[in-house]
Amino acid sequence: MGARARQRLVVVSNRLPFVFKRGKGGRWRIERGSGGLVSALLPVLRNRGGSWIGWPGAAETGPDLERAVTAAGAEAGFALKPVTLDARAVHEFYQGFSNEIIWPLFHGLASLCNFEPSYWSTYKEVNRKFAQVVMEDSAASDFIWVHDYHLMGVAAELRGLGCRAKAGFFLHIPFPPPDVFFILPWRLTLLHSLLQYDLLGFQTMRDRRNFIQCLRELVTDVTVQGKGQVVTVATDHRTVRVGGFPISIDYNAFMRQAATDDVARRAQELHRLLPRRKLVLGVDRLDYTKGIPHRLQAFRAALERYPDLRERMSLIQVVVPSREDIPQYHQLKTRIDQLVGQINSSYVRPGGWVPVWYVYDSLSRNDLLAYYRAADIALITPLRDGMNLVAKEYCACSIEEECVLILSEFAGAAAQLQNGALLVNPHDIEGVADTLHRAFTMSDEERRARMRRMRRSIRESDIFWWVDSFLRAAIAKDLSAFPQPESHVIEAVPDYVPI
Ligand code: UDP
Repeated sequence: MGARARQRLVVVSNRLPFVFKRGKGGRWRIERGSGGLVSALLPVLRNRGGSWIGWPGAAETGPDLERAVTAAGAEAGFALKPVTLDARAVHEFYQGFSNEIIWPLFHGLASLCNFEPSYWSTYKEVNRKFAQVVMEDSAASDFIWVHDYHLMGVAAELRGLGCRAKAGFFLHIPFPPPDVFFILPWRLTLLHSLLQYDLLGFQTMRDRRNFIQCLRELVTDVTVQGKGQVVTVATDHRTVRVGGFPISIDYNAFMRQAATDDVARRAQELHRLLPRRKLVLGVDRLDYTKGIPHRLQAFRAALERYPDLRERMSLIQVVVPSREDIPQYHQLKTRIDQLVGQINSSYVRPGGWVPVWYVYDSLSRNDLLAYYRAADIALITPLRDGMNLVAKEYCACSIEEECVLILSEFAGAAAQLQNGALLVNPHDIEGVADTLHRAFTMSDEERRARMRRMRRSIRESDIFWWVDSFLRAAIAKDLSAFPQPESHVIEAVPDYVPI
């Protein structure tokens, strides 16, 4: 990347990459965030220099917390800058606009949206606040990389404040097609705000196509140049780069940790507790986009349609608590509890087989990896998902390459993993049940061939590849260096090629 490689990077996300909690003696305890994004960006920030701007996540504010944030940054090797938000802002911007409007709408669930007008004004206000902190902390030569749906308006606010630095944005969730996006009362302002970035990144080609389609229908004179992973979109006022960058995981780290004795011992313990059967695994945050009730119904349908599966297969369903203060999440939890109870009471034998092993908790990393290693089949069936990292982590941990991945065609990961996963429509309860039976009876040879193909693809396009390709797309002179990756060419969901 030559001299440009020394350009400072300013990362902006809703949350800082460290979690700040008050310890017993009133001192701040600092824990590093666990996601792959944090692991991938920390070395880049250390090498290039730069800062990370975000909300520390603590309800309280004050000089004490600011000192803790600065100290965490000094230890990490780059600057951490907090954006403090009061309780009203957190409620209306984070829970309100972000999670009661954009989250359901962008996942195609408009009926779950609460279009409260005050949410929009607070969203703009908070995006402006983020932009002000970016302005204080950046120079015109820096590259500003803003993450996710909470902060779509930061570039527009930055331009309003006179900022000329290049800015990129990555959307971690899906972008909806025009019929859905147009429901948003603030659709035009939001599209124009997005156009204030210089580079826009989406998870899949489908999301990128949806965005361009929305532009074509709402903004005049849109022209698109190029055909590869990154294209140039010109409108009346702005020219931006738009690309598909499927996010990934630290493949080698998952594979190495899955191979440790501790994980192997925990996986064996699971087989000892649930003996003489194949284990099917679902791991999801508590969220209505994950399709957990549909999945439980499909599992029950499989037991009904295929008596040979009874007593020979158990579903381990891990649900990680999330957003429980939003009423729909609470209702979802009740529905899952009921379904698990119904299935288990229909089939359970005293002292014997339990069809659904249900864990409502957040797991330690080694326990999660033990579930991945122990499971013969992963059943990952979101109704819509930006990517779904669990699918990729499961494949990385399948070190014997003997496992089967059943994956929703509505997960972003389906585009990349169609070469090995059994793709399903999560709404098709009987279809998913039949696919479970197919996975259960699949030959060793076919399982290995499919898993090998998926692992190769994830290994080649890991999280470091993702960071690198986004940053290169921001500065590259010639976009022909970004051809369409072969395995990502799924354009529309129904067009996948069944194997
Ligand atoms: N995960 C976790 N704790 C758990 C179970 C899962 O931290 O107890 C992680 C998992 O390793 C994965 C992430 O949560 O990296 C879930 O990411 P995904 O893209 O599948 O879904 P999201 O929750 O972001 O919608």
